[in-house]
Amino acid sequence: MKLLLDGKPVAENIKKNFVKKIEKIKQEKNKVPYLAVLGIKGDKASYTYIKKIEKNCEKYGIKFVLKLASSEEEFVKNFNEIKQNKEITGIMFQEPLTKKISNLINEIPPEKDIEGLSINNMGKLFLGNKNINIPCTSRAVIETLDYYNIDLVGKNVVIVGRSNIVGKALIPQFLNKNATVTICHSKTKNIEEILKMADIIVMAIGKAKFLKKDMIKENAILIDVGINFEDGKMVGDIDFDDVKDKAYAITPVPGGIGVVTNSLLIDNIIKSVI
Ligand code: NAP
Repeated sequence: MKLLLDGKPVAENIKKNFVKKIEKIKQEKNKVPYLAVLGIKGDKASYTYIKKIEKNCEKYGIKFVLKLASSEEEFVKNFNEIKQNKEITGIMFQEPLTKKISNLINEIPPEKDIEGLSINNMGKLFLGNKNINIPCTSRAVIETLDYYNIDLVGKNVVIVGRSNIVGKALIPQFLNKNATVTICHSKTKNIEEILKMADIIVMAIGKAKFLKKDMIKENAILIDVGINFEDGKMVGDIDFDDVKDKAYAITPVPGGIGVVTNSLLIDNIIKSVI
């Protein structure tokens, strides 16, 4: 491996102007960024993630409110209250949610949809509109490649995983940078052949150490979005030790795409003030 695509300097670069931007918003608009997170009680991992977001918000003086419901009805009631609160600038739904509730995301005003997951924001992303909220994890992949000056023009990019937050949201972003994009999923045939042709691989499937050296070509650039736990240790979808001598560049897990994603969420919250 010639280059470790460390996420920390990428995140620091994104965060460096947060304090100034928030001060400017306070002075010029007399407003404070204010995030509301809505979810359903009971999921421990999701609660830990929300608490991390709350801590990050506190650090920058961003107001934060968490509404965890015990039922779908209570969620809808909370959502209606949050929508009417004019002080709240950003709204986020925390998975896991039922399908009925997840669909309510399309009722978040587009500028307050800080995760960029509503039909409105996703549609605009595919049409190439600027100044929209882009799903943070997908944007973290692009910001990382940009930070390390990795040229995407004409490159064969293979994305493994087709979730809205990562795989699908990445398609237009890579196309905009003139890459050639292939997307694979659990029903893809001959995935190893496809992977071997890739200049850049983005793994986002949630399968620990899935990608091995015999699946990649020499000097491939590898982006690991996966977060998995093996014997209590966080690992990605890429078998880092196995591929490291064959790949040109790799994002580590932890310390790669995850830290960049966290900073981009704050960036989207700050931008939500209009
Ligand atoms: P997801 O909704 O769990 O979907 C997984 C995707 O992987 C699906 O498209 C699935 O295909 C595909 N898949 C599963 N097994 C496969 C296989 N053996 N071969 C090829 N494709 C396969 O995905 P997600 O929410 O994007 O999460 C993916 C991973 O990223 C997880 O580990 C998650 O924890 C992590 N994540 C990290 C961040 C971060 O900030 N770093 C943020 C979000 C998520 P089908 O569509 O055919 O089922």
